[in-house]
Amino acid sequence: MKYRHLRNATALLTLGEHRLLVDPMLADAGALPGFKLFGAGRRRNPLVPLPAGAPAWLDAATGVLVTHEHPDHLDAAALRWIRARGLPVWSSHVDAASLRRKGLAVREVHDGSLGLDVEVVPARHGHGWFAWLMGPVSGYYLAHPDEPSVYLTSDAVLADAVLEAVDRLQPDVVVAPAGAADMGVGGRILFSVDELVALVRRAPGRVVLNHLEALDHCPTTRADLRERLRAEGLQGKVDIPEDGEELQFTRPDDHARPHPRVGPGPRPGLQKWLTARMAAT
Ligand SMILES: [Zn+2]
Repeated sequence: MKYRHLRNATALLTLGEHRLLVDPMLADAGALPGFKLFGAGRRRNPLVPLPAGAPAWLDAATGVLVTHEHPDHLDAAALRWIRARGLPVWSSHVDAASLRRKGLAVREVHDGSLGLDVEVVPARHGHGWFAWLMGPVSGYYLAHPDEPSVYLTSDAVLADAVLEAVDRLQPDVVVAPAGAADMGVGGRILFSVDELVALVRRAPGRVVLNHLEALDHCPTTRADLRERLRAEGLQGKVDIPEDGEELQFTRPDDHARPHPRVGPGPRPGLQKWLTARMAAT
């Protein structure tokens, strides 16, 4: 398995024969408005450009995997790019209809998709009423027979469902957003650094931290995280890739692999209807 980190949550995930472009935000630096609605620090996003190698890496994609419809995970530039190539877009049932209305060739992710063991793990993107307003988010557990299993939490706070998925599925690699995003209203909408420490301790294997230093409402820096993880004695379990860096993981052969839970998963309702209005078109 290879994980090429492009920027924020955008990555090229190589799993066997698949090269999945995860959560593409392809806008030029400064092309999107600030996400910090109140308080200091509002700047136009993304804060940084895509790395120089991005066009060639993007060209290698065989499909796109979308965890939710926020513009830092699927923006207008990415929609244009996907439509021009006609690439299949994998999403959970909750986002599928909305993405189809945007002219995308959507395939719903379920167990067996892409020839993988798969589970959709719904994430909570904030606390209380604000999490509802942030809309549904789908984390994905993906296990290719020849590759390490990976759990992409997507945008989440440390809800019980995340820890339950880690304990039950025992993913070899966890990928989690670490920017501690806060829009200045409604409280924090991603893991705090304390929550990340708890997640790293609980994870059975490696943890890749992303969603850093690319958006105005994500205050945590890579340097902050490295320092804290070193203080906790956890630096050896964690990768914090630079934009453009590729990480490589091999499947540990002594690791039993549990079966994912099969179920219909969440269905689009009022929450999806309302929050889809704020997504890129
Ligand atoms: Zn995000």
